[in-house]
Amino acid sequence: MGLNVIMMGPPGAGKGTQAARFARERGLPTISTGDILREGIKEGRPLALAAKAKMDRGELVDDEDVVAIVRERLARPDAAPGFVLDGFPRTVAQARALDRIVEQRGNGPLIVVDIVVPEQELVRRLAGRRICSKCGTNAEPFASDSPGACARCGGELVQRADDDQRVVLERLKVDQRTTRPLVEYYRDRPTFRVVNGAQAPERVAHELDTVIDDAASVGGAVA
Ligand code: AMP
Repeated sequence: MGLNVIMMGPPGAGKGTQAARFARERGLPTISTGDILREGIKEGRPLALAAKAKMDRGELVDDEDVVAIVRERLARPDAAPGFVLDGFPRTVAQARALDRIVEQRGNGPLIVVDIVVPEQELVRRLAGRRICSKCGTNAEPFASDSPGACARCGGELVQRADDDQRVVLERLKVDQRTTRPLVEYYRDRPTFRVVNGAQAPERVAHELDTVIDDAASVGGAVA
């Protein structure tokens, strides 16, 4: 049985960082639709370029486009033992499409983790977030001696276009309106779990490991 995980939570909840860590430790690919779209823009791919205006305004990209991206990505061999999805699904239509894909794969249920953080804390975190203009890595605020440079490659740290205060509020609003109904969609499943994201990253990580392993045993993903 595979370990098929969805990391949910509003922008700024730390789900990208946690998804990447969890996936690395379990040898699974992290699949972030936001990252795939941003890479696509850099590489000049038509679908991503068409999505750019919506992304810059903090709006959601069309369901068919992101579902196509995820379907193609999940079909690659490295996703056979499972995956960690970050930033997908964002709407109930996407969740339904994902259920069909997972059913066709037939290697275990979806484990859904919702990382919860109060809105005030989210705005504070997002306004201060920086990414590297060269390698795209999220900057760890205190990880570098020189605050303007990426700890990994030395590239210049910049604000993401959609982390601007006005756009941040729009993204949180979009999240409330479209993504929160997803919680309702998943809430009654035996493999749905909630994690408190308003604590130190190591504690969030520990809580995540615990609830995912528990959900996997309930869902039959662990022998
Ligand atoms: P993220 O990096 O996950 O915050 O995504 C950045 C932007 O990419 C979002 O604000 C959307 O415009 C777009 N995006 C990423 N994932 C999705 C998705 N599953 N559905 C629709 N739009 C998405």
